[in-house]
Amino acid sequence: MQKVLLTGDRPSGQLHLGHYVGSLRNRITLQNSGEYDCFVMIADIQALTDNFKNPAAVRENVFEVACDYLAVGLDPQKTTLCIQSLIPALAELTMYYMNLVTVARLQRNPTVKTEIQSKDFGSGVPTGFLVYPISQAADITFCKAHVVPVGEDQLPMIEQTREIVRSFNSIYGEVLVEPEALIPTDENSRRLPGITGNDTKMSKSLNNGIYLADDADTLRAKVRQMYTDPGHLKVSDPGKIEGNTVFTYLDVFGTDTAQIAELKEQYQRGGLGDVKVKDYLFEVLDELLAPIRARRAEYAADPAQVYQILKQGTERANEVASATLSEVRAAMKIDYFS
Ligand code: ATP
Ligand code: MG
Repeated sequence: MQKVLLTGDRPSGQLHLGHYVGSLRNRITLQNSGEYDCFVMIADIQALTDNFKNPAAVRENVFEVACDYLAVGLDPQKTTLCIQSLIPALAELTMYYMNLVTVARLQRNPTVKTEIQSKDFGSGVPTGFLVYPISQAADITFCKAHVVPVGEDQLPMIEQTREIVRSFNSIYGEVLVEPEALIPTDENSRRLPGITGNDTKMSKSLNNGIYLADDADTLRAKVRQMYTDPGHLKVSDPGKIEGNTVFTYLDVFGTDTAQIAELKEQYQRGGLGDVKVKDYLFEVLDELLAPIRARRAEYAADPAQVYQILKQGTERANEVASATLSEVRAAMKIDYFS
């Protein structure tokens, strides 16, 4: 049997370099390996859990994320691109899975805890937000995914899904597949820092990102702002490369390892200015982003084509989801009329 891959993103903004190295790059490699039936979902229900007062923004972001996907090379001929809210079986699966998870277990989820702290929920955490890890289990299991390429912060979500699958299968019989998370091999890509320093993860909500859609001038300005070694004042001073975000990015995105090793040596010795290293990083990033940016502009100018791709993908996802739902209902003995 062919293996199945599922991932996705919540459309709360455009995608950035953290998404790229954390999971997009793995998705594209696996898509092109031909060994996986790939599904990539735009999780708009999840985006609404903390943005329910901004439906227009969520709608706009679904389109932005779709353009990012197509621009980086997710190929609708090989990958099923779909929209979460238009797959009603997911809502039904979520309801059934809710019985398998305690409230205490949801409150212990470390990623959810961190997110609750960082968001301003004012009058309290919406129930929908607290249960989004359960809805994510529905997203992963509707297509019986074996592999889920994600960044490190998603590991608690995959673990939650695995627990639900084990619980479901032990009570109702072997229907669901227990997924494996696939995280990047190098530590910096699992949790790419933002431009403000190595202690912050690049994240939409922290406003410290370089976006796939950023034009060359914006990219140059952001690279110029990047955190380096605050003790490196004069060009002739020796500089530190540990905790220096510019070198962290060169390790992640650079391809000329000999050149990077030389720059590191020179920087540590003294005599290499931040601006020179930043200009080199700009070139490295622009080489990656320029073709993505160009393809993105083409898709952004043709919304009808983008929506058609999403419509076809969502139709296929619904077929797969309906089949899984029938098995789930039969296993749960609620398939009364069949
Ligand atoms: P938000 O600020 O809304 O939480 P985000 O930028 O953290 O947004 P998510 O939508 O939470 O992005 O994450 C989508 C996917 O991208 C997940 O698989 C996540 O692990 C991965 N990801 C996000 N940011 C990074 C990062 N800085 N490094 C590596 N992977 C990342
Ligand atoms: Mg996040």
